[in-house]
Amino acid sequence: MRFAPSPTGMFHVGGARSALQNWIYAKQQGGVFVLRVEDTDAARNKPEWTEGILSALDWIGISRGSYEGPHFQSENAGEHRAAAARLYESGRAYYCDCTREDVQARTGSQYQGYDGYHRDRDLGPGPGRALRFRTPDEGATVVVDLIRGEPTFENRLIEDFVIARGDGSPVFLLANVVDDMTMGITHVIRAEEHLPNTPKQQLLWDALGVKPPVWAHVPVVVNEKRQKLSKRRDKVALEAYREEGYLADAMRNYLMLLGWAPSGDREIVPWSVIEEEFRLEEVNPSPAFFDEKKLRAFNGEYIRALPVAEFIDACQPWLTGTGTIAPPPWQPEEYDVEAFAAVAPLAQTRLAVLSEIVPNVDFLFLASPLIDEAAWTKTMKDGSAELLDDAVAAFEALESWDAESLKSTLEAVGADRGLKLGKTQAPVRVAVTGRTIGLPLFESLEVLGRERTLTRMRAARLRLV
Ligand code: GLU
Repeated sequence: MRFAPSPTGMFHVGGARSALQNWIYAKQQGGVFVLRVEDTDAARNKPEWTEGILSALDWIGISRGSYEGPHFQSENAGEHRAAAARLYESGRAYYCDCTREDVQARTGSQYQGYDGYHRDRDLGPGPGRALRFRTPDEGATVVVDLIRGEPTFENRLIEDFVIARGDGSPVFLLANVVDDMTMGITHVIRAEEHLPNTPKQQLLWDALGVKPPVWAHVPVVVNEKRQKLSKRRDKVALEAYREEGYLADAMRNYLMLLGWAPSGDREIVPWSVIEEEFRLEEVNPSPAFFDEKKLRAFNGEYIRALPVAEFIDACQPWLTGTGTIAPPPWQPEEYDVEAFAAVAPLAQTRLAVLSEIVPNVDFLFLASPLIDEAAWTKTMKDGSAELLDDAVAAFEALESWDAESLKSTLEAVGADRGLKLGKTQAPVRVAVTGRTIGLPLFESLEVLGRERTLTRMRAARLRLV
């Protein structure tokens, strides 16, 4: 089994799905998972993309050191060339110097493929001459595909395709086959997009005299409009999900549901169950809908299921701007992990993604809260100034600064004005946290402490003069 990404961009969620499927299949079959970086397209590859792939794989549990590789396709250039030469020498490939225009002029169509002009012209090698594979005229190529049955391709419809360019460099199609062959790959599990390449590749396997692998083309991943996920339009980078605060366990569980489900109507299951129950043959060949809303809900459930201590740890990168997460736009001024631990259980039930922790608790770690001006205007109405005055006075008189006393005290302040608690606490919340929504207020005030709470309430009161 191998996973063979091309490092031409951020690592795509569809790629992550294929990697996991290969990973599990290798485990189930007692096989080896090989990572091969297909880096032969020098113009589009960048080393940082390779690093991104390795670290993203690591994140979802395909950890460095636990697989064979990474191997790099560019290191096998010698073998690719040797295979091209062998195909030429055995008569399975021939040289051709036709340009696209030549072919068009002969066939009268820009849509028709190559017409076999040089098949029997014995051109021989030379600068600017491409090497083409001589496809059989008759018969059919049957691809054995664990997911799609036996897609069959008539050979006469497969053009004599190029295997090495005019400069002698083998094309991807051939390099990919030669690498799989050299590495002894028995199963090629990859995206459906490659299915049209498969008959050509299988013909190459046959021509090179090696038994072709078993194929499995896993379904294309689409958005809610049934369009193939694209990096220009959709959020496709695994890294982006990671930075937003998706948990690796939620992510990999969700990715495995693209086209497959565990037994018994379950969706959220431990990884061990997926490893045990996953059957490549059961993967649905139709396009798989990547439902971000569902993923969010999933992630929320995973977050709630974490032991609190793990939840606290998991939030640290967003709170302190450290770790693997790029520094958040927000920097705490007085971060205190104990204070965070005190409110963490209240926050844990409310998040869908970990980055949402910041607006929930930032008021605890800033010298003064970030005031959301729209929330302020909406909340601070006639009477808010007096209400804050009374609340400050009542809080100052409190003997014990605890959530319960704070609540009953503010309730009494509101009752004097005929206000329900919700209305009474709104101005206090905005004064202290800067927002209209957030964690339960009185627990928040307890953790924030008497001095800071009162200072903020007085400051808000002054703004209302
Ligand atoms: N490098 C190819 C890609 O990233 C994969 C080809 C394959 O898996 O055979 O799409």
